Amino acid sequence: DFLLEVRRLKKVYKDGTEALKGIDLSVKKGEFVAIIGPSGAGKSTLLRCINLLVKPTEGEVYFNGYNILKASKKELRNIRREIGMIFQNFNLIPRTTVIDNVLNGRLGYVGTLRSCCGLFSKKDKEFAFELLERVGLSDKALKKVEELSGGQQQRVAIARALAQTPKLILADEPVASLDPVTADNIMEYMFDICKKDNIAFVVNLHQVEFAKKYADRIIGIKKGIKIFDNVQYFLSEDI
Ligand code: ADP
Ligand code: ADP
Repeated sequence: DFLLEVRRLKKVYKDGTEALKGIDLSVKKGEFVAIIGPSGAGKSTLLRCINLLVKPTEGEVYFNGYNILKASKKELRNIRREIGMIFQNFNLIPRTTVIDNVLNGRLGYVGTLRSCCGLFSKKDKEFAFELLERVGLSDKALKKVEELSGGQQQRVAIARALAQTPKLILADEPVASLDPVTADNIMEYMFDICKKDNIAFVVNLHQVEFAKKYADRIIGIKKGIKIFDNVQYFLSEDI
């Protein structure tokens, strides 16, 4: 049974750019899927259509059985909570502590305000600490995010996504701004979490080597079209 099913997804931006031209994609629970393709292929648009940061022009997106394009506001809130997002540039809340960023994943913006006023519950705080421990950052909990390295900031972003207790994490070029060793380390954290917590990952990647090393499945996208799915051996010149 699939956790996520995308059918004939199309996106035409206001300026007429056809970013997606009918993409089909199914993702199982706990599956680690890599999406590769050149810059401008539509990878980012695809992830944004799944969590409705971008409104698809045509097609269907089913998450956990719900058609997210037809969901009520309340259903959509629940769906969004179960889909975590990780970005290339980490997208942490600046001038704010590591633990507040993680609590933001659990409680949303209101949670961050509460935590800034010292009003977070002991249980929430403990939960956030546990997540920071999982990404090796419990000693950094009270640091401001600017004091952390890029790899550490991405680990905070992973902990923040986990704080939502998601079923799916969408990662848009999560290692593109990191050096190769740090990038590999972040890939390993994500893979480990995927398998231990049974959280599905859909990860946009430039680097074919990371896709080959970690993904259960590799999907290739070019000019808004899926050009391969689950091809174990392909020529990198194809992409
Ligand atoms: P990728 O993530 O593979 O680099 P994107 O999804 O970012 O690809 O972009 C796909 C295409 O859509 C590109 O041609 C890009 O310029 C275009 N595009 C992306 N966002 C917008 C937007 N907000 N408005 C218009 N065109 C966009
Ligand atoms: P990516 O690294 O995903 O390729 P881009 O540099 O293409 O990112 O895009 C950065 C931002 O600009 C995104 O929010 C994207 O939606 C937007 N964007 C990209 N292309 C266009 C475009 N042609 N017109 C308007 N917005 C765009």
